Amino acid sequence: MSVDPTGTIEGLLVESRRYPPNPEFAASANVNDPEIYQRASDDPEGFWASVAAELDWDQKWDTVLEWDPPKVSWFNGGKLNVSYNCVDRHVKTWRKTKAAIIWEGEAGEERILTYQELYREVNRTALMLKSLGVAKGDRVAVYLPMIPELAIILLACARIGAPHSVVFGGFSPDSLSDRINDCGAKVLVTADGGFRRGAVVALKENADKALEDTPTIEHVVVVQRVGAEKHPVEMKKGRDIWWHDAMAAVSGNYCAPESLDAEHPLYILYTSGTTGKPKGVLHTTGGYLVGAYATSKWVLDLKDDDIYWCTADIGWVTGHSYIVYGPLANGATSVMFEGTPDYPDRDRFWDIIERRAITVLYTAPTAIRACMRWGTEHVEKHDLSSLRLLGTVGEPINPEAWIWYNDHIGHGKCPIVDTWWQTETGAIMISGLPGLTTMKPGSATVPLPGIVPDIVDEQGNSVPDGQGGYLVMRRPWPSMFRTIWGDWDRYVSTYFSKYGPNVYVTGDGAKRDDEGYIWLMGRVDDVLNVAGHRLGTMEIESALVSHPSVAEAAVIGVSDELKGQAVAAFVTPRLGVDANDALVNELRAHVSEKIGPIARPDRIFFTAELPKTRSAKIMRRLLRDVAEGRVMGDTTTLTDPTVLEEIKKQYEDTGAAE
Ligand code: ATP
Ligand code: MG
Repeated sequence: MSVDPTGTIEGLLVESRRYPPNPEFAASANVNDPEIYQRASDDPEGFWASVAAELDWDQKWDTVLEWDPPKVSWFNGGKLNVSYNCVDRHVKTWRKTKAAIIWEGEAGEERILTYQELYREVNRTALMLKSLGVAKGDRVAVYLPMIPELAIILLACARIGAPHSVVFGGFSPDSLSDRINDCGAKVLVTADGGFRRGAVVALKENADKALEDTPTIEHVVVVQRVGAEKHPVEMKKGRDIWWHDAMAAVSGNYCAPESLDAEHPLYILYTSGTTGKPKGVLHTTGGYLVGAYATSKWVLDLKDDDIYWCTADIGWVTGHSYIVYGPLANGATSVMFEGTPDYPDRDRFWDIIERRAITVLYTAPTAIRACMRWGTEHVEKHDLSSLRLLGTVGEPINPEAWIWYNDHIGHGKCPIVDTWWQTETGAIMISGLPGLTTMKPGSATVPLPGIVPDIVDEQGNSVPDGQGGYLVMRRPWPSMFRTIWGDWDRYVSTYFSKYGPNVYVTGDGAKRDDEGYIWLMGRVDDVLNVAGHRLGTMEIESALVSHPSVAEAAVIGVSDELKGQAVAAFVTPRLGVDANDALVNELRAHVSEKIGPIARPDRIFFTAELPKTRSAKIMRRLLRDVAEGRVMGDTTTLTDPTVLEEIKKQYEDTGAAE
């Protein structure tokens, strides 16, 4: 089978819809002067220095960037504290009475923390950590539901210079102990339980199991979220302490923020594990905060009168950067929600937006596709007129899902920012600016000021416009990760070896159109090879999703004697659709018409759910394992293993595996 020697990924889908900036929005946008791009490219270091100067530093840096590829450091010699920048500096202004965090529990409970209240909690929590022996440099593992203590503990860790490592509350004991051991945490902060669709998630029991095998943990702090009446838990003497008891024992309300080097570690966070074993991504203090702060301001356009809601979990990088650090560094009001979009009903998101008059919404394509699948009647029950800006993150958004978001949620008046970035990048890298950029549905549009991506072929040469290839970064940026915790060699070999130490390899395939817009085409690991053509997953999936009967699709390549690989599609129909043979034929013809016969799926397989990571990304590698009848790869980051079992069973029963 001949493989395209240049490693080009072919882009076939054509999308011609355009959404120019809304003049009214642009007039008051945080960024509405296009010269920002020029300024950044003329003098990148001067540009980033001017952004960094918007934060409060205890001591100014000596040099902006030191780059000894692949090693980078930013703002060398500078000293600052992240919690000071997110809390203290706002308390000194009128914002002290402004809501910093508006929390809504799954059952509708509410807690609102003003900046002053958050300040007090963060200070006292920092003192509490110190009283447990946590010192600068010690790691603190966090395994909590989406409750205010989660944001508080992050800021308290940052205050004393103890890097945190948040493990998503849906993870199993094994995943938790792996992560604790990998980062060598001294203290674990957890809860007696969390709520999911009304049922209790047994976090403390999971933690107890995990802790059978974690020698570095000295103390466990337990937040009482559920209560002993509903869900009693065991407390191990000498090791476990209730959060409220530990806090009651704290004397004083002020813990001086540590003045930390810009390169002091802020946190370790494990990637989603979509393509394989998770990596412990390390972010540092100064550069990370500059990135999270600036992108929240530019892309999410946060202002003092916004009620901003990012629906991610703080267990993922999106929650770190865009629920906690970025919005709070901007002095914004950040909404934190414990529940899910379909509990108690499928209108929960829209209900929250109406009740709380949300102005900026940042969510994931997977949530948008779920709402598409459920139908518009749930949306139409609510007045969404408070919204002024919409964002998406986490996966490529299929153009049809983008249009649905625009029409049914934004009512055509809210710009949509499709933001491409990764745990490793710390902050948004490729995204339109809502007051400046003409948006194209399905494209993350253009790099942010100061970000220098390229699309290259197998040899590392830039591909001509219109062609696909590997997405890379040619220059360092402040919020980039500095290593994989404890594994510098894996850092270098995973990200900085394919094209040498100067070039960061993202692992994603992309194409640049003739106007310089970037279209993400899927992960390089998922690229199909059909009769010598290398095809990304995104375009075939988007062609399927553009059919009115389809809500979601995952495409993989399966071995085929003739073509090298044949295209297999796993399709989730919209509710009420009869998934029959006629639909299979229709979908095959539809893809053929949209992008060409080369991409026509050879096999289409209907399924009510697709296997997803706990961060809600489609895991195509496991579908490939099913299709090839292989032993499953790492499944520890799967949301619901039964989905995969079900697909496997059906796949074998229908003979699709032949
Ligand atoms: P792992 O690296 O462990 O396989 P992961 O890549 O899913 O996990 P994350 O850092 O959470 O871990 O996800 C980043 C990836 O998500 C990107 O590399 C890209 O594939 C995808 N992604 C995020 N946002 C977008 C977007 N707006 N458009 C297209 N893809 C996106
Ligand atoms: Mg990744």
